[in-house]
Amino acid sequence: MSIRFSVLASGSTGNAFYVETDRNSLLVDAGLSGKQMEQLFKQIERDMKQLSGILVTHEHSDHIKGLGVIARKYKLPIYANEKTWRAMEGLIGDIPTEQKFVFQMGTVKTFGDLDIESFGVSHDAAEPMFYVFHHEGKKLVLITDTGYVSDRMKGIIKNADVFVFESNHDVEMLRMGHYPWNIKRRILSDVGHVSNEDAGLALADVIGDNTKRIYLAHLSQDNNMKDLARMSVTQVLASKGIIVGEQFDLYDTDPKIPTKLAYV
Ligand SMILES: [Zn+2]
Ligand SMILES: [Zn+2]
Repeated sequence: MSIRFSVLASGSTGNAFYVETDRNSLLVDAGLSGKQMEQLFKQIERDMKQLSGILVTHEHSDHIKGLGVIARKYKLPIYANEKTWRAMEGLIGDIPTEQKFVFQMGTVKTFGDLDIESFGVSHDAAEPMFYVFHHEGKKLVLITDTGYVSDRMKGIIKNADVFVFESNHDVEMLRMGHYPWNIKRRILSDVGHVSNEDAGLALADVIGDNTKRIYLAHLSQDNNMKDLARMSVTQVLASKGIIVGEQFDLYDTDPKIPTKLAYV
């Protein structure tokens, strides 16, 4: 059997990603309250009791809001790199030592029938990293919260079967919007978030023959819209001769509604 996954919630209000194989049931980030997370699991007809662990990408609250509560309630192991562990101190409450595991950036960890590869991104957190899931020749990539997509990152994520890819903001909406200038500068910087246009440009470099699905993720509620993100990415790809719908499709993600549990 293959890998199944759902983007449970995506956006600045909270992020959570679910991935399962026959032998694993893993959560990546828990950026919503314990109660909200339980609701999201119900919607994909899963129970948090079945979880085998939680991977953490970085310590921003939209990724760890419910982490401590959920880990304690379900006695789950948490995996994060050392700098992220240090940065989370005081943010997630006490976690028993036997539930704390280190997952170094740039390494591969084997979870039964699933190999998970971590890689660093460019973002204003202690040591932010995202993941590539490898299972029986299939490849699933999760990448959000990065100011840009470097050639190194592209080399790691290229030709995935499925991409969950940041398309955070429309640059014009952000520029014209009401955010204070320092926040605008942060989002637009090399350690902020990927714009719709930059998502399209980066995707053009990493889409390969295996690519079947792309989920546009971590959309800003104030500086983006689903249709706009989809249209911008589609246009940029078209300008590179890549036509959405021919070999792969684009999918939305939502801050409150999980994507349908899907096979890779
Ligand atoms: Zn985030
Ligand atoms: Zn972040």
